[in-house]
Parts: sequence; structure tokens; C-alpha cells
Amino acid sequence: MTNPRPRRASKQQAPSEEPARYCDQPACPSASGCTAARAEAFLLLGPCGTRPLGPPWVPAGIVERPDAALGERIAARAARHSLSQIALIAAQRDDLPDGGSETLAAAVRAIRRASPATRVEITCGDFGREARCLRAVLAARPQQFHVGLGTCPRLYPKVLPGCDYVAMLECLRVAREEFETIRLKATLSFGLGETRDELVASIADLKSVRVEELCLAPAPPELRRGAGPSAEWVERVALVARKLAFDRVAVLAEPRPCGVICE
Ligand code: SF4
Repeated sequence: MTNPRPRRASKQQAPSEEPARYCDQPACPSASGCTAARAEAFLLLGPCGTRPLGPPWVPAGIVERPDAALGERIAARAARHSLSQIALIAAQRDDLPDGGSETLAAAVRAIRRASPATRVEITCGDFGREARCLRAVLAARPQQFHVGLGTCPRLYPKVLPGCDYVAMLECLRVAREEFETIRLKATLSFGLGETRDELVASIADLKSVRVEELCLAPAPPELRRGAGPSAEWVERVALVARKLAFDRVAVLAEPRPCGVICE
């Protein structure tokens, strides 16, 4: 990993301030459902990464210095509001020596310590293909690991430049083989220009690394190609996925900024 200075520091919050919720930024179609379920999401390493992250589609852009105290504030909020579920979304940060893995791991540990009943889901990239960074995060024992695989390998250079489809699958394989109690979830988007065979092949790849939950979601409008596939097209893909016997296959009607509630 390279280690240039972040181009600007993030607006650091005071230790006592409420952490900024990802839920409050873009309009989220799940907001009321998540409020009822006491589920919230937080961006941990800033709003942009050095490479894009697949669903929830955190873009590449000007990176910020991570707020080291954010995890503790999220943990305090989880305890104060008896949150049932928290999604921690970590941008791809190749500028940081550890890819931000220790910040993410520390946040998971803080939440588990302060609010043991809160279920923690993490979404992150491949940490510059450094498996030791991923292992450090998974060793903090989030209950769920979500990978936004996003799309088929052919479309990676266009949709997720600099990202590596095989490396993302490898993250899931490491998680499954070495951290077997962590539940694995993955999201694939449709409407990016993929063929049905390509989407089905990616679903089979996810099954081969024993992902338990699959979420099929429309691509965000800015990435979508044309009107996107018909509902019937999507349902035929979902049928194939259901035949592969994932524990759960969810098909979303609208893109979501996070995968915490995927139904
Ligand atoms: S889907 Fe995620 S970002 Fe949206 S309200 Fe729910 S927890 Fe927040």
C-alpha cells in the first residue's frame, strides 16, 4: 500500500458529539424500517476512498484523515439507544498503512464492549489485497461480513476501476475458512450492462465461497445503463439463486445506501 498524506483532514467531531449517521445523508428508502428495527449505518473511514467500493457504492475521491475516536462514539450511541444492528462501512483506503483495518477493528471491538446486544455488520474492500488486514478486522468478531461484489468481472474496469473481483471473492473465502461463525452476506447489482449469464456466474462464485445471504439490488441511477432489466429478468435470476440454496435471497426494488436491512 502507498502512504501519501490524506489531502485534507476530516472535520473531527468533539468526543461527546453524536456520530454522523450515514442514514441521514442521502434519502434512504429504508429509513423508517431501519428506525423501527433500531438499525443504523456509519461511514468509518470517510465519504471517499482511494478506490471505489462496490455496493453501497462509496466513491473514489479526495480522502480524509480518519477520525480515530469515531468508533468509540458509535459504540456509545449503540449503548445509549439500545441499537439492534449497526453497519460499519469502510471505504477502500490504500493511502493508509493498514488500509484503515485497525480503525475498523477497534470500532467493532468498542461496540461489542459497550453494547454486547448490538449486531455488527462490516462492509469493506480488500485492503489492498493484504489478507493480514482483513484477518485483523474479522478477529474483532463482527457478527456479519458484507461484501459488495457489485458486478461481474468483465465490468470491473469500467464500474469499479482499480478493484479486483477475484480479491473480493478471496476475502469471503478467508472469512469462511478461518472465521466460520461470522455470517457472510454479499450484494450484486443489476442494470450495469451485465448479461444474465454473467450475473448467474457471479452468483455461483458467491455460492462457491459459501456466502449465506445474497442481496440483488438495482444499480444506482448514475451507474445504471439504460432503463435496466425488466422485473421478469431479475426474477428469473433470483430463481436461479434460490435453487442454489442460499439461506436467504433478497431482491430490492430500489438501491440502498447500505446493506444492513436487505429485504
Ligand atoms: S438502509 Fe442503512 S443507511 Fe439506510 S436507514 Fe437503514 S441503516 Fe441507515
